[in-house]
Amino acid sequence: MAYVFLEHRSSLEHITASRPASSAMSVNPEQPTRILAIERELDARDWCGFERMQAPPVERSLLTAIHPESHVAEIERFCAAGGGHIDDDTVVSPGSWEAALHAAGAGVRMVDLLLDGYASSAFCSVRPPGHHAMPTQAMGFCIFNNIAIAAKYAVEVRGLERVMIFDWDVHHANSTNEVFHASNNVLFVSIHQSPLFPGTGPADDVGEGAGVGYTVNLPVRAGSGDDVWISLVEHVVVPLAFAFEPQLVLVSAGYDAHLEDPMADCNVTDAGFSAMAHAIAATCRELAAPVGAMLEGGYALGTLARCVATTLEAMSTVPDRNGGAAAPLARDARHRLAEWWPQLTAGSSARSW
Ligand SMILES: [Zn+2]
Repeated sequence: MAYVFLEHRSSLEHITASRPASSAMSVNPEQPTRILAIERELDARDWCGFERMQAPPVERSLLTAIHPESHVAEIERFCAAGGGHIDDDTVVSPGSWEAALHAAGAGVRMVDLLLDGYASSAFCSVRPPGHHAMPTQAMGFCIFNNIAIAAKYAVEVRGLERVMIFDWDVHHANSTNEVFHASNNVLFVSIHQSPLFPGTGPADDVGEGAGVGYTVNLPVRAGSGDDVWISLVEHVVVPLAFAFEPQLVLVSAGYDAHLEDPMADCNVTDAGFSAMAHAIAATCRELAAPVGAMLEGGYALGTLARCVATTLEAMSTVPDRNGGAAAPLARDARHRLAEWWPQLTAGSSARSW
């Protein structure tokens, strides 16, 4: 099976250059240069064995499965009228409409390629990012929630019963959290810095109704580095995956938890992202679940590009999963989550984590 890299030139036509004079940062960090930096790095690495494909625009009906038609139409009109600031962070230009359609379409096409058996792994390098885009409110650089649209398509159109979304962007995915809050078809797991924008995602937000236990928030303090992040992946995220047995794993792949990223205060290194990507890729292989990643944040250009390449390398090699002992934060999370996931109770599983 192939490894597929989805992209589209419209990602470069979403122009966010200006910010209000009142803003703390004079230049919006969510720029087309992010995509170009990734392209340059991957080109130098022969695309890590990935096949490049063009992302189609999303069908309107799939967009409106998450975002009401009135909101979608308002975004379309605003872009066509020349665009401007939706808030301090979130800016659109005339080209943003096509970019947003292709960004969401990348995720849907990725799901088809993975479920139809064409690809075992895929990565969508598109913008605008998506995980903050609430159903009726564009925010946090995000217009539409690309990964939520993809996951909902996988469940409602492709008929999957178990989709796992793992979000390793340093910011909490307030929108993804909300969209699947009451769903037990989608297990949403997020590691994020707290406190930090957008301020959501406490550990005690575990979902609601039938979805209780299927929202897993793993907040970490500023300054958290490889030890904390990798431990949470190996001792919480991976065991959850084995307990849930997803038919598809989607990763909201942001790289702003990196030590060199200007937007947050975590200290993950290239090696940390490599370890997390290897752990997820190895788990998906063991579970025979295809895995697709969508670009979210990551604003230090060289760092972003290197870490995307690292992710692709992990997805396209046969990795080993051999983690260390659980850090205290991971042990606490396992204890807390055992109420819904008894497999996480130490000693109750034949597997050793
Ligand atoms: Zn982020």
